[in-house]
Order: sequence, then structure tokens, then C-alpha cells
Amino acid sequence: MVVANHRPSRLLISKAAVAKNLQVMRESSHANFIFMTVKANAYGFGLLEMSQAAVEGGADGLAVAVMDEAIALRKAGFCQPILVLGLTSPDFAQLMADYQIIATVADRETLKRAEANLRLGGPKLPVNLAVDTGMGRIGFRDREDLSAAIDDVQDADFLLYQGIMTHFATADAVGTTYFEGQLATWHELTDGLPMPPMVHLANSAAALYRVDQMPMDVIRAGTSVYGIEPSEGVLKPDNYLEPVLTLESEVVMIKQLPAGASVSYGATYQTTKDQWIATLPIGYGDGLPREAVGFEVLVNGQKAPIVGKLAMDQLMIALEEPVPVGTKVTFIGKNRDQENTLIAFSHYCEIDPWEITIGFQDRLARYLVD
Ligand SMILES: *Cc1c(COP(=O)(O)O)cnc(C)c1O
Repeated sequence: MVVANHRPSRLLISKAAVAKNLQVMRESSHANFIFMTVKANAYGFGLLEMSQAAVEGGADGLAVAVMDEAIALRKAGFCQPILVLGLTSPDFAQLMADYQIIATVADRETLKRAEANLRLGGPKLPVNLAVDTGMGRIGFRDREDLSAAIDDVQDADFLLYQGIMTHFATADAVGTTYFEGQLATWHELTDGLPMPPMVHLANSAAALYRVDQMPMDVIRAGTSVYGIEPSEGVLKPDNYLEPVLTLESEVVMIKQLPAGASVSYGATYQTTKDQWIATLPIGYGDGLPREAVGFEVLVNGQKAPIVGKLAMDQLMIALEEPVPVGTKVTFIGKNRDQENTLIAFSHYCEIDPWEITIGFQDRLARYLVD
């Protein structure tokens, strides 16, 4: 993995925005404990950068998808509770226990095998039981089975009954029928069973729109803390969360082309007049989608379209006026009194915002800013 620190193309993560968004989630849900979801390289924002911003900004724990992300956080020094949301083989139970990583489990066989793999005298493995109330992904779907699993964990010598969870498929939707059904299933499956210290159902959308309907002591928040209104402004106005991400670069070359000159691979773009063309050191090799052609980036508060195909490492923009080499160019974020939001960029490219950010490559340097 090579990070391009000697190039002006970069992602900036605003710590103040992360802190503000965590506070919004705290106020909305009254949660005592917020797991900040930093799976998949923190939705592409950068695992360690985003985790640091989250912890400084008030997150109580971190949630990842796979055990390796949790270990990377421990090795980087994060000592907060870390929850692995996906399933992990019981072969790694001892390693998880050693790192004190909370393991999500969805079947009794795994509990049995994990217990068998754990060493006498070592730390207990904290277990989080997943309940499938309608997501159809992972979790217990049967009350008897779940009840027996809770007994298994409580009777085990080396397992700790730490958490229980479910996940909603439609908490960000206008229609609430499916959501209500999942909630009813949750009650059918769990009411009256022994509950662990951490009972967590809500993702960002549930914590914002379904506040009084479920336990909110512990929540798992991603989307909202990254600065995106989960319903894109449909269920709440979309102005109460702060944009977290800035994607910017700088002009490394500028030239005036005569009318009829072509730009980039395939010579698909031709100038129709004398045209200032600036080159930026960023391309689809950094994860910028090729669909970004024509998107207007911001230069000195002015809009400037991306022209010609994106190359792997470079692209060109058209300008009305020449600007000096070194002039800042903003793809996503504020530039003078103008702003390109991640959502606007996502709409332009017709790609889901997380699909865009997940695509940002390691080469693109990430920096924390205030
Ligand atoms: C990704 C994920 C979350 C975070 O959801 P957001 O909508 O981004 O807040 C919460 N819980 C689970 C199980 C997840 O996989």
C-alpha cells in the first residue's frame, strides 16, 4: 500500500463535523453508548483517521465488519470496546478474546466451538448475539434457539454475554410497515429472555426517526456521523448534519488550447474556442468514478467542468480564466462561498454515496482537520 503524501490530491476529514454529528445522534437518541461504525475502511473515509475523529468526537465504541479491522484498531492503540458486526470463525475465538473484541454470533454450534477453543485462565470472549427480525442476513430467527443460545453463553466458562442486536432493513424508508413488522418480531423473539448489558437495535436511521419505539441505550451509527442524512432529506430536513469529507487537489499544469483541440484518451472532448485547460493529479486510480466527467469542481469559488475522460492518475478541467499552478481545486467540500456536497457528487455520478467513498483508494492521502 502506497499513500501519495507528496501529491496535492487528498481527502480531509473534519473532526469538528464528526463531533457535531455524534452530538446530534446523542441528542436524538439519548444513547448512553454510541458504536461508531467504521467498517470497510470507515466507509472509505479511512479507518484510523475516522476512528480517531470519532473517539475524540465522543464515540464510545467502534463497530467493524471483520476481525482484521478490529485488530488493526487495537494495534493502532484504540482501547474502546470494538464490535465485529459480521460472523467470525470460532477458530479465532482465542485471538478475539486476547484482543477483547466483541464477537457477533448467530448459531449455537459456533458458541460451542468457541468455548472449546478458549483457554483456561484467559480473558473471556465477549459475545454479541444477532437476531434476524427480517433483514434476512445473519441472526437467530427462532425464539427457542435464541433462548438456548443465551443459556449456552451464560453457562459457558469462557464466554461473556455482552450484547444482543438486530438490524433494520427499512428504517430510512417513508413506509413503516416493514419496520413495524421487524420490531414486532424482535419482541416476539426476545421479550422475557435474559438481556445482556448492551441491547442495540438502532442504526442511524432508527436513531433519528424511530426514537421512542425501541431501546436506545446503545446505538450503532455510521451514515449520519459521516454527514449524510439517511433519508436524503425526506424524513427530516437535510441540514442538521455537517459534511465531514473534503476531496481536493491542485492545478499542476495550465495551458490555453485553441479551438478544435482534443483532451484526454479517446479524444472525446474538443474545445470549441480558445480554452484554458488545467491538469489535476488525480484519476480513476484514486477511486474517482469515470461518471464524474462533466461534474463541476470548484476553483476560486467558480465552477469548472471535468473535461475529457478521466485517466488513471490525472484529469483535466476547463477554466474561463487562467489560474496559477498550485491553485486549490475542490471536488467535494467548500471553496469560498460555494460547496459541492458528497450527495450532489453522488447524484451527478448516479452512484450511491457510499459506493463512491468506498471506492477511494489507499493512494489518496487522508488527513484529519479541525
Ligand atoms: C453498517 C451497519 C450499521 C451502520 O448503519 P448506518 O445506516 O450507516 O448508520 C449498523 N448496524 C449494522 C449491523 C451495520 O452493518
